[in-house]
Amino acid sequence: SRKPLVAGNWKLNGSLELLNEMAPELKAVAGEDVDVALFVPALLVASSAQQGVITGIQTVSEYESGAYTGEIQASLAKELGASFALVGHSERRHIFGESNEDVAAKFAMAQQQGLTPVLCVGETEQQREQNETESVISAQIDAVIEKLGVAALSQSVIAYEPVWAIGTGKTASPEQAQQVHQFIRAKIASLDSEIAQRLLILYGGSVNEQNSSDLFAQADIDGGLIGGASLKKDAFISICESAK
Ligand code: 13P
Repeated sequence: SRKPLVAGNWKLNGSLELLNEMAPELKAVAGEDVDVALFVPALLVASSAQQGVITGIQTVSEYESGAYTGEIQASLAKELGASFALVGHSERRHIFGESNEDVAAKFAMAQQQGLTPVLCVGETEQQREQNETESVISAQIDAVIEKLGVAALSQSVIAYEPVWAIGTGKTASPEQAQQVHQFIRAKIASLDSEIAQRLLILYGGSVNEQNSSDLFAQADIDGGLIGGASLKKDAFISICESAK
């Protein structure tokens, strides 16, 4: 059985003050029944990890090092205590133009440097309306499998985040989300059933303390990736509790 993971994604929000306030409580709620992680802004990674919080970076450069001003070095994130890296968050794909191939390259670099990549996938509202949800998600996952082979997924997490549910207050219903999670697991099981059985698949998109238990109760939903609600201490703690 899979141990649930609830992760906050602070995006370009939060502060050192908020981190200091939340860190002890996040450590207290985490335990045998749930892992709790925070994807803080890059400049807070060291501080978060030093306080004993499972920490992730929100993106990494696909380059190991070199003349790439402003980019984030996966090896340095690891050295400062990060254990996870988001790759292909929909905001990176849509605002910063990352292609499936770019995301696969970042996945590879994160893994090469000892970070566990959290591969974010999801369809837009228009793609869902045109019945392209499964083909879009397949292509997002296939880019990684083509580059690295299915075995690479054994050291990774997948996060399903329908674009239309991110920051909109329009969450996928538990049934809608479960359907896609099941599709993802079955797709991977067709290549390697053991990897598929162990793989954590998180749901993200307007998760809050009212809807989290029903989402997390679904058979193939192994926790969540929480945006807005992860900036509110009480809400985030109660979402973490609901995954136990
Ligand atoms: P919200 O929870 O604010 O919808 O954001 C979800 C998300 O993008 C997490 O990565």
